[in-house]
Amino acid sequence: MSIQKNYEEIIQSLPANVKLVAVSKTHPAEAIQEVYNLGQRVFGENKVQEMVAKQPVLPNDIQWHLIGHLQSNKVKYVAEFVDTIESVDSEKLLEEINKQAAKHNRKIKVLLQVKIAEEDSKTGMEVSETKELFLKYLQGHFENIEITGLMGIGTFTDDTEQTKREFLFLKRLFDQLSVQKKLETLSMGMSGDYQLAIECGSTSVRIGSSIFGARDYSI
Ligand SMILES: *Cc1c(COP(=O)(O)O)cnc(C)c1O
Repeated sequence: MSIQKNYEEIIQSLPANVKLVAVSKTHPAEAIQEVYNLGQRVFGENKVQEMVAKQPVLPNDIQWHLIGHLQSNKVKYVAEFVDTIESVDSEKLLEEINKQAAKHNRKIKVLLQVKIAEEDSKTGMEVSETKELFLKYLQGHFENIEITGLMGIGTFTDDTEQTKREFLFLKRLFDQLSVQKKLETLSMGMSGDYQLAIECGSTSVRIGSSIFGARDYSI
């Protein structure tokens, strides 16, 4: 397995309007540096502790995306440097991000995570809650936050019709909300389903194992 070969294949397969978030969770800083040296700047981690450990030892023009469930009391550890929090799944969390961003006198970009999986109980908000939160944002409640789009995780299944339904469901909501404020990021698609996600309108794919190889959680 060659990280360089994997990365180049992925990059070549992505349409020009689709951004890549290289998901580096469980992989060491050296592997991230290798992909950085190939030109990648956006990296995704799902745990605060891991992101906080890696960030200081890697180049500071990396755009860090938090993609995993985030507890409100941990926002403070990433507020100074995180580029985008993709996994906003409650108003409480959004309020805390806003507060911590204000402390650092900056704006943090966020995506609202919507529950799209029909079967898996993956985290994310229901559509009604997502719309309410977006409306509050439009009314000016969260000054130190910019909602740049939506994120969703499809069901882990071989049934591509089901995954397609889930992606199109999120795309429809994205288009609806975009009428009120132009949104730029529709984050959906991982190693196993990113091509389908792109067909369904994804503008940002989160790819880990197809770049870095399989993850080893035993170490
Ligand atoms: C781990 C993870 C990914 C990447 O998964 P791969 O299948 O390795 O590409 C994408 N999104 C989220 C939210 C993840 O936690």
